[in-house]
Amino acid sequence: MQREKILQQIGQFNDEYDFIVIGGGATGIGIALETSTRGYKTLLLEKTDFTKSTSSKSTKLLHGGVRYLAQGDIGLVREACMERGRLLRNAPHLTKNQDFVIPTFGWFDEVKYTIGLKMYDILAGSLSLGASRRVSKKKALEKIPTMKPEIMTAGVVYKDGQFDDSRMAVNVLQSSVENGAYVLNYAAVKQLKRSQQGMINGVVFEDEETGTEYTAKGKAVINATGVFADSILQMDKPGSRKTIRPSQGVHVVLNKSFLPGDHAIMIPETDDGRVLFAVPWHGKVVVGTTDTPMDKPAIEPVALEEEIKFILETAGKYLVKAPKRTDVLSIFAGLRPLAAPKEDGSKTKEISRSHKIAVSDSHLFTMIGGKWTTFRKMAEDMVAKVEKVKNWNKTHSKTRNFQIHGYKTDIDLNDPMYVYGTDKEKILELARSESGMDQMISESLPLMKAQVVWAVRQEMARTTEDVLSRRIRCLFLDARESIRVAAVVTSIIAKELQRDKDWEEQQVKSFTKMAEKYLCCKPEEVQN
Ligand SMILES: Cc1cc2nc3c(=O)[nH]c(=O)nc-3n(C[C@H](O)[C@H](O)[C@H](O)COP(=O)(O)OP(=O)(O)OC[C@H]3O[C@@H](n4cnc5c(N)ncnc54)[C@H](O)[C@@H]3O)c2cc1C
Repeated sequence: MQREKILQQIGQFNDEYDFIVIGGGATGIGIALETSTRGYKTLLLEKTDFTKSTSSKSTKLLHGGVRYLAQGDIGLVREACMERGRLLRNAPHLTKNQDFVIPTFGWFDEVKYTIGLKMYDILAGSLSLGASRRVSKKKALEKIPTMKPEIMTAGVVYKDGQFDDSRMAVNVLQSSVENGAYVLNYAAVKQLKRSQQGMINGVVFEDEETGTEYTAKGKAVINATGVFADSILQMDKPGSRKTIRPSQGVHVVLNKSFLPGDHAIMIPETDDGRVLFAVPWHGKVVVGTTDTPMDKPAIEPVALEEEIKFILETAGKYLVKAPKRTDVLSIFAGLRPLAAPKEDGSKTKEISRSHKIAVSDSHLFTMIGGKWTTFRKMAEDMVAKVEKVKNWNKTHSKTRNFQIHGYKTDIDLNDPMYVYGTDKEKILELARSESGMDQMISESLPLMKAQVVWAVRQEMARTTEDVLSRRIRCLFLDARESIRVAAVVTSIIAKELQRDKDWEEQQVKSFTKMAEKYLCCKPEEVQN
């Protein structure tokens, strides 16, 4: 994961790759792992930072999707339940088995959810995380003491998986690199290259840091750009039909006092038919989400006023203490890359979440839709498709039972550094071996200097935002504190990357501007 070294190798050797993957979100990184572990020479190019787009802004659930079961999408639920089980096994340092409580009101609710969740258990087969069960109102309140007693007559407890999305991506990328893949952030694909017969055989990309252009030859080019898929399809065939309909989902992050304990809440049907989750995550509580159709994709979408209102009001209906804007530590919005429906007017929540692969006449392979939970299976399907279309020999997947970088089983979830897995010891060694590295930058997040240096040296972090948003999840956990520590973090990065004062100033300015969008109110309102 050392950017200069990888760029130098690409520039020096005019190699041909078996796979060029465009996009460094969940979809692209999954494909890079799948192809590199099968021995394919792979290059992954990401325009901004890995997971900067949707893949850092998920609800952080590895789930079959109870809602999709209600919609009768049995195939998708079964596939996702299997993948959930595999990921929990393959990356125990980044995932956990999470208990959810559904508050039920009346016997009809109770029967519906008890039977529905039994089905959910059955679909997971041998990879089930444990049986769901009906619990009395008293027991449900013991698990979630902050839930209003009057909203329920009983409850159902079920299990799903939870994870850290961006940390998962970093470790999957490290595994890919360990298997020979070349991965680059801040490398934007500008153009597709073609053979004399018009078949796609490479890309032109630009190093966004220097403006230098490179050409890379590839036998198969994969469009894994999520909500931006149509822009690459346009490069292939101008005027192509729109394939993606972005749907925005917003989350707010609250203090743990709103949901003390280990249990999460799942409200399967809010007033407007949406699902709402409140899930403990890294010592805070993530509450969301919404489902708002959007016309255009954006790399950093912003929560709409009505979305914030919906989440806070709905949470307030179920929690004893209703959260206010001033309680929000961070707010983030992401765009689901849903397949555009053939008929106009379909509601986004009715569009299937299953993935589809499109192959153009010139052999551009595009992944449409999907979920974080199924990113491994999506990659398996993509390789199978390429091998079939290109008439290559069939290879077999090695990722079903694969220990992802950092793999460690004896994890203490109360340790703020548990997500590093086996890398934690290396970071602590760095903190011991170099002077000042053990200095705490923030006690409340918490954040140590050695983590910042590690992110730059080992995880390809290039900017203040890369470090504070995605290598360490500070911005998502406490936007205000992240803004406060930005200057110190930037000076550490600048020293590592040998950047000057102008760069530092510009970094702090642009990070602060971006991070202010993660705030829900002005600082003076919080103090009042
Ligand atoms: C609110 C919300 C909650 C969700 N919650 C869950 C959940 O709990 N569990 C779950 O399983 N799934 C969840 N999902 C779905 C999941 O997050 C997405 O399906 C997944 O992250 C999409 O990944 P992607 O790689 O396809 O797209 P992205 O993450 O958008 O990645 C695409 C990348 O392509 C890059 N790119 C674009 N153009 C170019 C170019 N020209 N050159 C190079 N790179 C380019 C972009 O910069 C971007 O980084 C959620 C989604 C949302 C929106």
